[in-house]
Amino acid sequence: MQTNKVTLPMKTIGIIGGGQLGRMMAIAAKYMGYQVAVLDPTSNCPTAQVADQQITSAYDDMDGIQKLTDISDVVTYEFENVDLEAAAYIERTGKLPQGTYALDIAQNREKEKLIMSNAGLPIPANQIVKDSEMCVSALENMTLPAVIKTVSGGYDGKGQLKINTKDDIEAACEFSDQHDVCIIEQWVPFDKEISVIFTRGQSGEITFFPVSENEHKDHILYKTTVPASISSVVQQKALDAAGKLAEKMNIIGTFAIEMFVKGDNIYLNEMAPRPHNSGHYTIEACTISQFAQHIRAICGLPLMPIELLRPAVMVNILGDDVETALNVLPDMRRGFLHLYGKEAIKPKRKMGHMIFIADTLDETKQQLAVYEEAKQ
Ligand code: AMP
Repeated sequence: MQTNKVTLPMKTIGIIGGGQLGRMMAIAAKYMGYQVAVLDPTSNCPTAQVADQQITSAYDDMDGIQKLTDISDVVTYEFENVDLEAAAYIERTGKLPQGTYALDIAQNREKEKLIMSNAGLPIPANQIVKDSEMCVSALENMTLPAVIKTVSGGYDGKGQLKINTKDDIEAACEFSDQHDVCIIEQWVPFDKEISVIFTRGQSGEITFFPVSENEHKDHILYKTTVPASISSVVQQKALDAAGKLAEKMNIIGTFAIEMFVKGDNIYLNEMAPRPHNSGHYTIEACTISQFAQHIRAICGLPLMPIELLRPAVMVNILGDDVETALNVLPDMRRGFLHLYGKEAIKPKRKMGHMIFIADTLDETKQQLAVYEEAKQ
């Protein structure tokens, strides 16, 4: 068991990465009276707008990392692709309670799959391929459809290609030749996608947020609904799997695992060693948010019990949706709007989200419909 190093409010929390997740972490930290420093190459990035200070440097610039570490009492990160050398440096100073192990695993799909299968957890059948020859032989042993993904660096559907029929094998081989190491996975004809978000404290205590049901459009999360409409069997399997992985990986902080549900079975897809887009609903719909609980975990404070206050639906606002969201706002009595303060509006860029809560899920959906109708 690790020692619980307590960092009290008024001390400084350093965050690597200045996007929306860092921003929401920072807001949670500021509520509690912490000082926040952020490291990001873009000045006035979303997190910097709410932080006390910014170190404007590349994520892997050791001078910048050193400065952040010097001025911080504890350091965390908002994304998984933190430079491992930088993380190791901070860990050696005793200021990175999350450590480097979970980061190392979550940066690589091959390592993720290995740790999941070693823990006896269900995952889609898969094979690592390094060139087109390996790609052809892997696909000979798999029933289609399948999907080929880069083992590192992919997000929001980038870095992957679906292989529907034999006609797509050539494109898959090209994809494999263009990228370093890839993984080919059996396509799971899932009924739904869910995520389990939990927070684990430095002393090993763990709290789970309600399981959320996720709908993607063009590989980008579109909507999250809570509670998820899943059987108690699936719910238990999902929580057990997440708990097992949390122990095995000695996770500290808020962590997310995306899963596919087919009948009463689950298949673990990927993990995120940080708060997750599908957990934004916790800000308004739970007794504590995924961000505030994360801050408590890395600061060595006891975790708060989590309750869902009311059913919730979260919808992402992409660049394409900003104008509608703003146009419709003066006529909407419901819906908590969060915009992230990103300067450049790009069509598929996550610019914000909206959360609807009500006594029933049907009511949340009616509220959402006002916004969705305006989008058409
Ligand atoms: P990922 O980047 O692995 O999270 O994949 C993005 C999205 O693609 C997932 O949320 C699923 O909707 C879909 N997807 C990825 N892998 C699979 C799979 N093996 N079976 C079915 N759908 C998948």
